[in-house]
Amino acid sequence: TAKKQGRGRVALHNEAIQNAYIDKLKLKDKLKYALKHELLRVHYQPVIDVKSGQCAKFEALIRWHDEELGFISPARFIPIAEEFGLIHLLGQYVLRTSCRDLAMLHRQGFGHIGFSINRSINEFKASNNQLKLISEAIQDFALPFESITIEVTESMAANSYTWQVLQALSAKGVKVALDDFCTGYSSLSNLIDNPIDYVKIDKSFVDSMVEDSNKQVMIKCLIDLSSQLGIEVIAEGVEQQQQQGMLAEFGCHLIQGYFYSQAKPIEKCLEMLEREKRTDAQFA
Ligand code: C2E
Ligand code: MG
Ligand code: MG
Ligand code: MG
Repeated sequence: TAKKQGRGRVALHNEAIQNAYIDKLKLKDKLKYALKHELLRVHYQPVIDVKSGQCAKFEALIRWHDEELGFISPARFIPIAEEFGLIHLLGQYVLRTSCRDLAMLHRQGFGHIGFSINRSINEFKASNNQLKLISEAIQDFALPFESITIEVTESMAANSYTWQVLQALSAKGVKVALDDFCTGYSSLSNLIDNPIDYVKIDKSFVDSMVEDSNKQVMIKCLIDLSSQLGIEVIAEGVEQQQQQGMLAEFGCHLIQGYFYSQAKPIEKCLEMLEREKRTDAQFA
């Protein structure tokens, strides 16, 4: 009967929720183990200055390959890390690893390169003292404060404590980027009330910009507004020549996306910088 079928469906539904929960707990345990044994890696995606065609900086992105489950996306495990109190450990690992790797690039003669590091909302709690942790990491590896950018999303920027911490970091020279701009609750007043050095146009905007003239208008306005405020715009998720051409025409010169490169291990980044330098010398 219909009633019986209905009940069956409820049971199935419950089972699905239960399975999802078990998956989540399993992932949590695996993540905890991986963090403890430093099995995660940090890869770096180049941000290209289209004027020079050269790499200006890199964004640090966490990578996790599990033996059983394969590659797991940060979009999947970052929320789990947040929910189960592992984000602090993860954040510290990315911060220290990035600073160590950047110091290596600087020693190899690429002192003009900077790194961007993502921070999650739950990392900006008073008890975590991000001001101290970030400053310490930068100083321990003898980096200039200016070489590190902290990326936060707009939703976390809504929190005034987060802004206090970012203000204090900014006063030391650390750069601040507003990530995934144009998604969620964008408030343009964030741009004038706070110490922001970069805004990052979200991939979802770049994806459809070539066909969507309204998106073009918005992106152009944002680039004009930012440049008047002394903020640099980085477009993320650039996959096609056409997008890059249009962005450059609108005045956006910093571009990040598969069109140039995915995130890669630090050794590959060093190779890329060395290749650039050789090409440069050739044409000098
Ligand atoms: P995000 O900070 O907005 O990073 C950009 C994401 O877009 C990265 O995904 C990058 O690999 C991807 N991407 C860049 N260019 C392209 C492109 O041309 N095409 C496509 N399809 N994708 C592109 P990823 O590495 O999977 O990271 C997803 C999100 O996870 C990040 O978004 C960030 O919010 C978070 N995340 C990654 N690493 C960390 C970390 O170390 N700490 C924290 N708190 N969050 C992180
Ligand atoms: Mg980011
Ligand atoms: Mg982003
Ligand atoms: Mg994004």
